Formats: sequence, C-alpha cells, structure tokens
Amino acid sequence: MLHLAVIQWPMPRYIFITGGVVSSLGKGLGAAALAALLQARGYKVRLRKLDPYLNVDPGTMSPTQHGEVFVTDDGAETDLDLGHYERFTGVHARRSDNVTTGRIYSDVLARERRGDYLGATIQVIPHVTDAIKAFVQSNHDDEDFVLCEIGGTVGDIESLPFLEAIRQLGNELGREQTCFLHVTLIPYIAAAGELKTKPTQHSVKELQSVGIQPDILLCRTEQPLPEEQRGKIALFCNIRPSAVILGMDVNNIYEVPLSYHAQGLDAEVMRHFGLADETPDLSAWTHICNGIANPDSEVTIAIVGKYTSLQDSYKSLGEALVHGGIANSAKVKIEWIDSELFEAEDAAVEALHHVSGILVPGGFGERGSEGKIRAIQFAREHRIPYLGICFGMQKAVLETARNLAGMAGAGSSEFGEPEIPLVGLMTEWTSGNQTQQRSAQDDLGGTMRLGAYPCLLEEGTLAKGLYDDAEISERHRHRYEVNIAYRAKLEEAGMRFSGLSPDGSLPEIIERPDHPWFVGVQFHPELKSKPFDPHPLFTGFVAASMEKSRLV
Ligand code: GLN
Repeated sequence: MLHLAVIQWPMPRYIFITGGVVSSLGKGLGAAALAALLQARGYKVRLRKLDPYLNVDPGTMSPTQHGEVFVTDDGAETDLDLGHYERFTGVHARRSDNVTTGRIYSDVLARERRGDYLGATIQVIPHVTDAIKAFVQSNHDDEDFVLCEIGGTVGDIESLPFLEAIRQLGNELGREQTCFLHVTLIPYIAAAGELKTKPTQHSVKELQSVGIQPDILLCRTEQPLPEEQRGKIALFCNIRPSAVILGMDVNNIYEVPLSYHAQGLDAEVMRHFGLADETPDLSAWTHICNGIANPDSEVTIAIVGKYTSLQDSYKSLGEALVHGGIANSAKVKIEWIDSELFEAEDAAVEALHHVSGILVPGGFGERGSEGKIRAIQFAREHRIPYLGICFGMQKAVLETARNLAGMAGAGSSEFGEPEIPLVGLMTEWTSGNQTQQRSAQDDLGGTMRLGAYPCLLEEGTLAKGLYDDAEISERHRHRYEVNIAYRAKLEEAGMRFSGLSPDGSLPEIIERPDHPWFVGVQFHPELKSKPFDPHPLFTGFVAASMEKSRLV
C-alpha cells in the first residue's frame, strides 16, 4: 500500500524523462548523469522511476530477464536504475522512489474495496492517473529538482497512463515547474554513410500525440551530428536547436556526466527553467574518469554465478568492483563464469588457476549451487582471495562444514530437507522494535529480510579492520540464514564469525583467519558502493587480489 505524505512547499521542479525509438538507450544513466550535473551546480536532487509493468515490484522477476533487483535502505525491491541513481548522486533511494503499474493498481483496487471511492466508477482517468500524480508528488525533502524517469518506450500500451499523468502534471504545474526530456536514438546507417533522424521525428510525433511536447531531446548516437541535421530535428520536433543534445557513446559510464555537460544538457535545463547558468564543479567526475582511464595495474577476478548470461543481473556488483579498482588505481578485469560448469566436469576448476580473486554473488535456487561450493573450495585451498555475498557466504559456510568440520550432510533447507540444516529458513527476526515472522507457506513477493539492518563487528577481525567501525549498517535480501547453533563447530574448523546481528542470533560476516583474504557476508555491500566512495570490502578484496597476482 502506498502511504503518501502531503505535498510540501516550495515545490521542486520536475524533469520527466521518457524514451523513444528503442529500449536500452541508457535513459536511466542519462537521468542519473543529469542529476549529478544539477548537484554539481549546488542543487538538491531526487530521482524516481515509474515502471509500466504489472508486477507489484521486480522482486519476483528473473534476474536474467529484468536484471538486478536493487534494494533500498527501507527495504523496497526496486529497478536497477535506482542503483545508477544512487551511484551517481549519493542520494539514498527510498521505497517512494520506484512505482509500477501493478502497485498503482493494487493500491487503487484496495481503496475501491475499502469504499474510499463509494459511488464512483473507477477509471484509468482520473483514478489511476491521480494515484500516479500523487505518487510523483509524494515524500519530498525540499529538493530543488525531482527527476522522474518513465520506464519503457513511448508507444507501449502499458506506459500510456504514466504519460497521461505527467502530461496533466505539466499542465497543472506549468512550464516553469516542469520539463520534458525525451531520449531517442539517431542510428548510423553504414550502407548510406548517414545518420538518420527520422526515427527521432516519429518518436516525438508519438509523444505529441499523447499531448506531450518535449522541451529537450537527448539523442543517443555513435557519430557526431552535422549542424544541419540538428537544425532539421529541431524544426521537425518543434524545439530550439540548442535543445537537441547529443548523447555520444563513451568508454565508461562515469564519463556520461562530463560528456553530457560538454554537449550542453545541464545548461539547457537551466535555460528552460530560467535559472542562471553558472559553472558546475565537476572535479569529482574528472577525478573518477582519470582514475579509470589511467590505472597503474590490472587484476583479474572471477565471478562464479548462475545469472552470468546477463551481466545486468549483477549490475551493482560489477560497478562495486570498478570502484574497488579506482581505490587501488587498478583496472579490474571480470571473468564471468557459470557455476554449473564446475558440476559438469572435474577439469573446470582449472579455469580458476589464473584468476587473482574469486567472488560468489547472491543467488537463489539449487541450479549451479554445488558448482559454487567447488569454486569456493578451490579459492580456500589455493589461497585465492574470496568474497562471498549472501548466497556466496552461505555456500562458503557449507564448504567448511562439509570439507573441514566433518558435516558431510550439511545443506540448505532452500532446496528440500538436508540431513544437517546448516542454512535454514528464517522464521523470526527483529526489525527496529518489531518482530517479523515468516513461514514456509508465505507469499514469495516482498517477504524476505529486506533492507538495512545493523551488524556488530568483532574486535581483531579482518572485517573490523576494513570497516574501521564497531557497528555498520548494510542492505539485505535473503530468506535463509546460517544457523548460529553450529558456530562452535565451524569455528573449530577455522572459520571466524566476525559480524553478528546486535542480538547475536544472525551471523552476518564470516572469515577465515588461516587464509590471506576470505570473507563471506550475508548482506549486499555492492548496493552501497559509489565511485566517489568505494565500499571498504571491495577496496580490500581488490587490494588482496592485486597482492595475489604479484605473488604468482
Ligand atoms: N537464496 C538465499 C536466501 O534466500 C540467498 C539470497 C541472496 O543471495 N540474495 O537466503
């Protein structure tokens, strides 16, 4: 259920970002980069995403179809674009920063059942569109700008209510309060040797047909656009030529703010709102880009997972490794390895011989899980730095249990009933001052242990040294947990429990003091890493992997 706060005053300016022609144009990145540019001009920003699909949230969607599920501090399972938003602005996203058609409808229908609309016929306009507008305008923190990205591509049936809602907002709030930014593609047709503007013209027509006149066009292209083509787009799309901004392809995503600034995107936004065009402070972005472009060394790290066919499934993870690289002046080369390979043939682990670090990320389900245990055994025995995240921690504990603690029957109750349920379903835990309870019969959507929870670090551990703090807060997304009752047996087998929930009942971090760098965490540190503030676990893991590569 959506809980909407009252609209505050002064109202922020809204920038609505739509996409046309094709999907995957980097709309989310564009929105994030623009927000970063506005921040660099001293403005306070918030980013939001409106997703047209019918799932209530992406929590139950396959990572290989939809990409990573990004979890917020307040426990919402959201679209991966929110990860870009946080990485580019450092502003922590909240539940109220992502909504889907499914959530809007389930809220409207719940209100209808309650009798809130008694007597009325419930319709898309105005009931659904009103709910969308209320969502867009809810939970602000005196931001100067709220950037609202509409998922999907203009012309999709699903996105119509969202477009209608932002059209109405544009009308109600006026042009001085709203700006429509449309992201399109200008394809290069090699056979003709030309850039083609027609798809952009058609896409703008489509947008105009639902009553939205874009103020700024961000045209993604591989080649510079001749001036005359820019003029043509401006003429046919009814905007001024300076508002046709080129979004050229760049070498890495952190160059996007600098590139879009050079093309005049933020200056055009200032012009639209009648704000002074002062020079932004982009030194942080220059620093990050210089670091990425000029590394002192290179290190290869293997990610052994199940969703390796779509790297978007591990979006934040890949980025957190880039950040760990920036902190160590190193380029991190990632080898994506399907963990099932290690189940099929004995020789497969040989593929791990040349890597300097092994990472087993979060995951669900049995497929490939035994392969992960074999990769972890390899990392432990060959003294290769190991970072296990969530599922990767649970598997590391099972590896020690089976191979070093004499518990051959140890397993996880995520897949049936193991002889020794070392990893079991969490049925009760504390969240703030509330007790959360779950059973095996619960719904799967939104019922995991989600969001930020505190963790206390043990003195004298690797984790404590890395974080340099006694209490940390990290984001979680799991249903199963290492059973603390086996702590003594695991510690006898060389494992140390270095982080626990404040009540001591939930193991949060494990490590192996007999190994150069072996850490497993029950949470997802990758979700909080930023290019300008790399996460200590990734900085430490990359540093240890560099050390390993020097030893080989
Ligand atoms: N499947 C495991 C659990 O639910 C791990 C989840 C994860 O890796 N995010 O506990």
